[in-house]
Amino acid sequence: MTLLLFDIDGTLVRVNGAGRETIMKALSSLLNHPVTADGISFSGRTDPDILRSILRHNDLPDRDAHVDAALEAYVEAMTGVLTPEDVEVLPGVHSLLDHLADHPDVHLGLVTGNVEPIAYEKLGAHGLDDYFPVGAFGSDHADRNKLPHIATRRAASHTGHDFHPAEQAVVIGDTPHDIECARAAGARVVGVCTGHYNHAELSPHDPDWLLDTLPAPESFLERLLD
Ligand SMILES: [Mg+2]
Repeated sequence: MTLLLFDIDGTLVRVNGAGRETIMKALSSLLNHPVTADGISFSGRTDPDILRSILRHNDLPDRDAHVDAALEAYVEAMTGVLTPEDVEVLPGVHSLLDHLADHPDVHLGLVTGNVEPIAYEKLGAHGLDDYFPVGAFGSDHADRNKLPHIATRRAASHTGHDFHPAEQAVVIGDTPHDIECARAAGARVVGVCTGHYNHAELSPHDPDWLLDTLPAPESFLERLLD
């Protein structure tokens, strides 16, 4: 049994500016103060890590309680607002997930920096949420490197199958952070160039497999289950 742990943003879907805008609006109204995030990259980072950077960038207090309050405001602002037009499903995702969901040797999960309700909000805009009964999220830990182990434990208790990251887990993601978190857990990793990083930028991070886009289900399975 192989556990495939998918990242969300830049890997399964692209949320066209709505996430960034909503964070900024929610923070500005929470803090009663215009907040900027100029020059801060969100790619591959967990929501609590991003919010702490934004608070620091604006010289605002950034202790855990402040980060938690900011996260709460962000979740509240995002809930129920994403329309299908805000969320673009990346090429090949529907057919790949359809195929993998029915495969007897594969189990699907998430490893994403999104806090859990936002992860499912983004996936739910196009009905992709039902493919992922388990995952690990930015709400579980601000350090993405801790997430593959958490996702693996949850998948084990969900399925009754004993998953070990080093033998059975594969992380699929679009940033150097995805590759790094897979390595931290000893898992294999597939890099996809559908986010903000191109082939030349991801290649030095040495994923096991680097792809321009998610491939057809047959070749994906053949390679991963080999
Ligand atoms: Mg991503």
